[in-house]
Amino acid sequence: MKRAVKAIYPGSFDPITNGHIYIAERAASIFDEVRVSVLVNSQKRSTFSVDERCSMAREALSYLPNVTVGHFQGLLVDYLRCEESRVIIRGLRAMSDFEYEFQMALMNRQLAPEIETFFIVTDPQYSYISSSVIRDIFQFGGSVHDVVPPGVFRRLRERFPPQTPQTPQRNPAGEQRKTEGGAP
Ligand code: ADP
Repeated sequence: MKRAVKAIYPGSFDPITNGHIYIAERAASIFDEVRVSVLVNSQKRSTFSVDERCSMAREALSYLPNVTVGHFQGLLVDYLRCEESRVIIRGLRAMSDFEYEFQMALMNRQLAPEIETFFIVTDPQYSYISSSVIRDIFQFGGSVHDVVPPGVFRRLRERFPPQTPQTPQRNPAGEQRKTEGGAP
């Protein structure tokens, strides 16, 4: 009997974006099972906790029956061996992603020759989207609702509540001078 092929899609997903979802969806149309795997990295400060990142990803991907969500720490290849998977999925947005991804793929092959990295090219509409860009745009009041799933948009709003616009500060000394009949 043919064995089901499970692919691991690792990343920070801090938070998951429509670009990530596009890659997961395409991977799910090719592989029997795709496990979106949130990296627990104690060295890197993240905006959302691992549990939050997993639950946002789980909610956003619930429409794909062969996609599951989990988390891992340590070496990716060790995690793949635990999960009995030989396939890593990574997304490519631009040439700038390629250099880093190529290096990681070669390193992983060195560590575990039986594991293959597959790259899926993004849709042009998502090529400029990254989790960090979304966080920055949102914090400065820009619109991101069309590039993240609704659950992520909700959590971004909770994490970064909209600032009430500041009333411009009046300068009492300047006001005083005016009433004294000075020059405007
Ligand atoms: P990492 O910290 O491992 O780069 P990310 O969450 O930023 O984790 O990305 C996980 C994977 O998803 C990477 O392969 C990245 O290139 C890919 N990715 C991120 N954003 C997009 C996007 N907009 N379109 C396609 N792939 C993307």
